[in-house]
Amino acid sequence: MGSADNTSIRAENSPNQPDIKSARLDMSAYADVFDDLHPPLTHHEAIVEADRCYFCHDAPCMTACPTSIDIPLFIRQISAENPKGAAKTILSENILGGMCARVCPTETLCEEACVRETAEGKPVKIGLLQRFATDELMEDGKHPFKRAASTGKSIAVVGAGPAGLSAAHRLAMHGHEVSIFEARPKGGGLNEYGIAAYKTVDDFAARELEFVLKIGGININYNKALGRDISLDSLKSGYDATFLGMGLPGVNGLGLDGEDASNVMDAVDYIGQLRQAKDLSKLPVGRNVVVIGGGMTAIDIAIQIKLLGAENVTIAYRRGQEHMNASAYEQELAQVHGVNIRHWVQPSSLTRNADGTVSHMVLEYTTQKDGKLTGTGETITLKADQVFKAIGQNFLAEPLGKTGVALAKGRIKVDEHRRTSVESIWAGGDCVEGGEDLTVASVEDGKVAAESIHRALMNLPDAVAGFADAVLSAQGGANNGQRNIQGPAPIEWAR
Ligand SMILES: Cc1cc2nc3c(=O)[nH]c(=O)nc-3n(C[C@H](O)[C@H](O)[C@H](O)COP(=O)(O)OP(=O)(O)OC[C@H]3O[C@@H](n4cnc5c(N)ncnc54)[C@H](O)[C@@H]3O)c2cc1C
Ligand code: SF4
Repeated sequence: MGSADNTSIRAENSPNQPDIKSARLDMSAYADVFDDLHPPLTHHEAIVEADRCYFCHDAPCMTACPTSIDIPLFIRQISAENPKGAAKTILSENILGGMCARVCPTETLCEEACVRETAEGKPVKIGLLQRFATDELMEDGKHPFKRAASTGKSIAVVGAGPAGLSAAHRLAMHGHEVSIFEARPKGGGLNEYGIAAYKTVDDFAARELEFVLKIGGININYNKALGRDISLDSLKSGYDATFLGMGLPGVNGLGLDGEDASNVMDAVDYIGQLRQAKDLSKLPVGRNVVVIGGGMTAIDIAIQIKLLGAENVTIAYRRGQEHMNASAYEQELAQVHGVNIRHWVQPSSLTRNADGTVSHMVLEYTTQKDGKLTGTGETITLKADQVFKAIGQNFLAEPLGKTGVALAKGRIKVDEHRRTSVESIWAGGDCVEGGEDLTVASVEDGKVAAESIHRALMNLPDAVAGFADAVLSAQGGANNGQRNIQGPAPIEWAR
């Protein structure tokens, strides 16, 4: 993994060393280099936008939302000048609704499904309306939900990312005591360390974390890593239940000689340093940058490094445009920022300087034959002062120890209620099999797991009414009351 400490690799004057340096921009430019990607709607704009909604029955936008937010209801509440009511509707299904309003790829979720997208190619701006409502409520400084009476049960949550926070909040709501164990010095997971800086400005991840904790009953133990400071066995014996939301701490490699060079960096690692940097002008930025990958991380690192002053930034992706995990909108966003995207090329080798740093990236053209990706043998060589690996992360199972938590496809195996193969242990978010690697999907996992844990601990055998319905009806809300969270299937614990 490359270091982002530029002192060791800063050698812009030497022809045989990579041109990497800090402060590529005028100092005055750093203040707003990562301005809000989608500035918030004004009150007037929100009302006008809300009026575009048809308030569809069986709304397809709602079905497309992984957390099943009642979108037509919250838009109607905005229309009726009740943004805080709208925020409660959102937060009752998705407690990180503020962050999701900023980072969800709405163009492939709710807004893609919106009937106005189908009819006119111009969906209702659901994401921005969600942000409008949740911002209004959070500005108040009050938490909208109250805890149930104490149950006397205590639950351990590993990881304070979106999955862990969502689970912790829902469990605390139900009256349980929650202890989170977080390896890093700050909470929020990738909201704090991974999401592109222009998607979450003004320290929003930290503010949202504070908002979530206001429910009470959640204690976060920072710098406490499972497998290093605590064991799963001790959590299992010390708590009534455990939720694992550890994300994907491992990084996939290119498998090339020379990838340990100081100017070949892991994109997520670099973004983490960027997000935590007190002074952006100190970050090392190459003149010619090559990014390997085709997902959101590739797009995010490419745009951010370009904004920090890199001259030529190329994303190299091994398949075609339509195969990229990054949505068409994100690809266009990169191009609008001056990023060049090359399709049908794969990393072939790295050319190195005498001191071991990389100078060029050799890419081989690819083609698809009988459904299989193959190299054509032809290559192209790009100058590379800095190479970023953005080819995915992986789950590290070592912290689980010998507890017997089963894995599938390299991640934790869970059932529909997010129960693992081991009694009293649940899991969700990126670390589980089938994880969609989206913030909103991780929030949903945490919520589903928390409901399942609650039912198991309180011996609630049958389907119970969804949390949203209970909260809103208690508060005189207008939910349709039709959504139920499924009851548990018979539990088959591994022993
Ligand atoms: C660069 C990047 C950009 C992204 N951009 C977007 C985006 O724009 N929109 C979107 O929807 N999704 C995006 N995603 C995906 C999204 O961030 C993740 O799907 C989401 O954060 C997963 O949540 P999680 O809680 O499962 O894991 P994480 O957010 O990774 O949180 C896991 C937490 O567990 C902690 N942890 C790990 N191991 C241990 C241990 N052994 N003991 C204790 N704690 C531990 C970690 O420190 C971390 O705080 C992006 C991902 C990346 C990498
Ligand atoms: S699909 Fe579009 S128009 Fe219909 S309820 Fe959802 S946001 Fe409104």
